[in-house]
Amino acid sequence: MPLDESVPAPDQFQPQPHPQASTAKSLPISDTDRYSRQVLFPGIGQQGQQRLAAAHVAIVGCGAMGAASASLLARAGVGTLTLIDRDFVEPSNLQRQVLFDEADALESLPKAEAARRHIAQFNSSVAVHAHIADLVPTNIAALLAGADILLDATDNFETRYLINDFAVQQGKPWIYAAAVGAYAATMNILPELQSPGAPSMAQPHRDMPGSPPASLVRWMGGMQYSPTACLACIFPKPPAGNLETCDTSGILSTAVNLAASIQVTEALKFLTGQPHLMRRTLLSFDLWSPALLPPEGSGYLDRSEIAASVPRPGCEVCGRRSFTHLAGQDRAHITLCGRDSVQIHEHHRPVDFAAMRARLATHADIEDLRSNDLLLRFRRGPHTLTLFADGRAIVHGTTDITVARSLYARFIGA
Ligand SMILES: [Zn+2]
Repeated sequence: MPLDESVPAPDQFQPQPHPQASTAKSLPISDTDRYSRQVLFPGIGQQGQQRLAAAHVAIVGCGAMGAASASLLARAGVGTLTLIDRDFVEPSNLQRQVLFDEADALESLPKAEAARRHIAQFNSSVAVHAHIADLVPTNIAALLAGADILLDATDNFETRYLINDFAVQQGKPWIYAAAVGAYAATMNILPELQSPGAPSMAQPHRDMPGSPPASLVRWMGGMQYSPTACLACIFPKPPAGNLETCDTSGILSTAVNLAASIQVTEALKFLTGQPHLMRRTLLSFDLWSPALLPPEGSGYLDRSEIAASVPRPGCEVCGRRSFTHLAGQDRAHITLCGRDSVQIHEHHRPVDFAAMRARLATHADIEDLRSNDLLLRFRRGPHTLTLFADGRAIVHGTTDITVARSLYARFIGA
């Protein structure tokens, strides 16, 4: 765990100014200067840059994929970012999670907040809304409703199906992205617009040539596109044989950064009013295999594309509009990826850290009790419990849900 014996005493475990904060320059940087090379790129131009400044992107998850995508979008000048993540920074994240540093891991800073602070260091003009939360049916509308497009940076299909339900129901585009081992995949999901009065991305980018076939055209404000397949069109059930996680298969930083690069590039096409340029396939790469094509090669394919251009007839979600994940109950517990941990989320009420800390201090078997504005942490035997302000806890040191729930009930409360 990041908070070892060398960490300062509990009363010193308070949010500290980030080491870089004191050296940050307050010199104004003009947008003309900052974005000059991006504006030179014909696909963006001055008009595209203005549209990015007015755009709002929500990123679900702020691990490796979310950190990379958030960094790219903030540097590109997307005006507003909503970052949602339930976890905190650990040393094993630093190999691939590009927005975080050793100080974040030492502080166990929640990832959404750490990302917000780092983005402010390199582009202070971006408004970042950081939410330390688990995306669940009861909060998804409040967290995602304001965004123009949603980026998947989660590590599980359950949350992706929830995003898919919400996006299809609302007619809001989202981009699936996944990486494990040396494998990277992305897919754009452009659902059919549901309400003619829905928020729009204003006018189409008139500099750009090309448009989709008229028979397939749907309107999103002034922007036109034809609906693609949704996630459930391609994967009616979670894909079998794709259950590896970075816990079991490891992960190359390069794979996740490739997926994030493609995801953000696709988002930039959409945000600049060019949805007709967006890919309409499930695109995947294996970065480690030789790029040999059968039959000459060994059968390895380094790149594959599966058609996802049109909705699958009879799809439960986008065809029959059955949103079972959106209607589902909140998940009570989840085993997290890459860690010997269980998340407990049974009590949805805010936590008074001071009162909780005073109560926990009376337990003789609790050690290393410490808290700050964002979390409370203590160790009990082989287990470490991290409690967040929304009542959620991550129990480290077990993958046994019964053990985790028992510890939660005993020390946090029923
Ligand atoms: Zn579908």
